[in-house]
Amino acid sequence: MGSKKLKAVAVKGNMEIPLADAAKAGELRKQYLHELRGPVNLFRKYGTPGTLTVSSTSGNTPTKNWSGTSVIDFPEYELLGGKKVLEQQEGKYACYQCPVGCGGRMKEGTGKYKYEAGAHKPEYETLAMFGNGCLNGDLESIIKVNDICNRFGLDTISTGATIAMTIECFERGLITKADTDGIEMTWGNHETIVTMTGKLARREGFGALLADGTKMVAERIGKGSDEYAMNIQGQEAPAHDPKYGVDWAICYRLDPTPARHTQGGEGYPPGLMPEYDPDSPHNRGELHKIGSDFSHVMNSSGECAFAYVTLPHVDAFIGFINAVTGWEATLDELLVTGERVANIRQAFNIREGLNPLNFKVPGRMVGKPPQMEGPLAGIIVDEETLDRDYLTAMDWDLETAKPSKRKLLELGLESAAEQLYS
Ligand code: SF4
Repeated sequence: MGSKKLKAVAVKGNMEIPLADAAKAGELRKQYLHELRGPVNLFRKYGTPGTLTVSSTSGNTPTKNWSGTSVIDFPEYELLGGKKVLEQQEGKYACYQCPVGCGGRMKEGTGKYKYEAGAHKPEYETLAMFGNGCLNGDLESIIKVNDICNRFGLDTISTGATIAMTIECFERGLITKADTDGIEMTWGNHETIVTMTGKLARREGFGALLADGTKMVAERIGKGSDEYAMNIQGQEAPAHDPKYGVDWAICYRLDPTPARHTQGGEGYPPGLMPEYDPDSPHNRGELHKIGSDFSHVMNSSGECAFAYVTLPHVDAFIGFINAVTGWEATLDELLVTGERVANIRQAFNIREGLNPLNFKVPGRMVGKPPQMEGPLAGIIVDEETLDRDYLTAMDWDLETAKPSKRKLLELGLESAAEQLYS
C-alpha cells in the first residue's frame, strides 16, 4: 500500500454475513455472556484507559521517551487514568454486538483545546505515548492530539514517539528553536506538543521533517539522534516495556512486523498456556510460540484482542470459530493454522532479504544500560536466550531466522519452500 501511495481501503456492504450454524453461535453467546472474566468490568467502564494507572506503577508504560520511570519522573500519570478520562466522556459505544463495549466519545472541548463533541476517547497507547512518553499530564491536550491524529489517519503510537523524540533532541540541544519554527519543545509542554502534532500532520515547516517517523527524523537531524529514535526497523515501539514483559522482547524483533505488541505477549484465556514463570527468560521459546500461533489465528479471524482476554476459557473461542465457519477444529489444529501464518509471513521477509537478527532494538527498551531506579531497576533483558529459544521452537535458523525446509513442507507451504530453497 505504501509503495502505491494507498492510504486506506473503505468497504461497505449490505448483504448478511452468513454463519454456518447460527443457532449454535447464539447458544454459545448465551452460555458465555455471563461467564466473561478478567478485565471485562474494567474495559466496560473505562475502556483501555483503565489500564494506565497500574501499567504506569508497574513500569510497563515507557516514560520520558523510554529514559525514565513513571512513579519517579511522571507522577502526573494519575491525571490521565481511567477515572479522569471518564469525567470527560459524554457516552460509550461498542462494536456491533460486543458485550464488552470499551469505546467512548468525549464531551466537546471548549477550554484551551477545541474539539467537537463525540471526539474519540484516547486509548491507553495514546495516553501513554503523548502522556507518560512526553511527561505531559494535560488530558485535554491528549484528547486534542488524538483527534488530530484520527482526522489525518496517523497512528498515535508512531506520532507520540516522534514527538517524544523531538522533545528529547531539543532538550539535549541537538535542535533549537531555529530548527523548530520557533517552537520550544520541552518535556510536558502540552501547548507545543499540540502545535507540533498539527504541523506534523500537515507536513508544515519543521513538521515535514517529523512526518515520516523517528527513523527518518534521526537520519535528518543526525548528530547521534538515532539513540533517541525508539523504533525497531523503522516501526515505533508501543507502550509496553520488554523489561516488564519479556515476551515483548521476542516479538518486537522477531515477529515479521517488528515492534508489534499484539502478537504474543498479551493475556490469554485459561486453557491455552501451561504454567510458567513470567519473570524468567528461560524456556520461553515454546511458550511464546503457543501465544504467537494463537494470536495469528485470533487476529486473522477478526476476534478483538480486548474481548478475547475476557473469555472464560480458550474453548469458548474455539466453539465460536467452529459455529461461524462450520469447521470442527481442535485447539491443536488451530495452533498449526497459526503456525502456518507465522511461517508464510516469515518466509516473505526472508525472500525479501531481511534478517530480523540484524534489527536493532534500542538499548533503553531492554535495560542496556539498566535503569537505576523504579520498578524495573537493574533489569537487563536476556535477548540472546529469548531469541535462541524462540527460533529453536519455530525451527527457524539461528543465524538467519529462515524457516527450515522441513517445517515449511510439514505445514504444507510447498511454494514458500520452493522459493526459499531453490
Ligand atoms: S469489539 Fe473490542 S474494541 Fe470493539 S467494543 Fe468490543 S472490546 Fe471494544
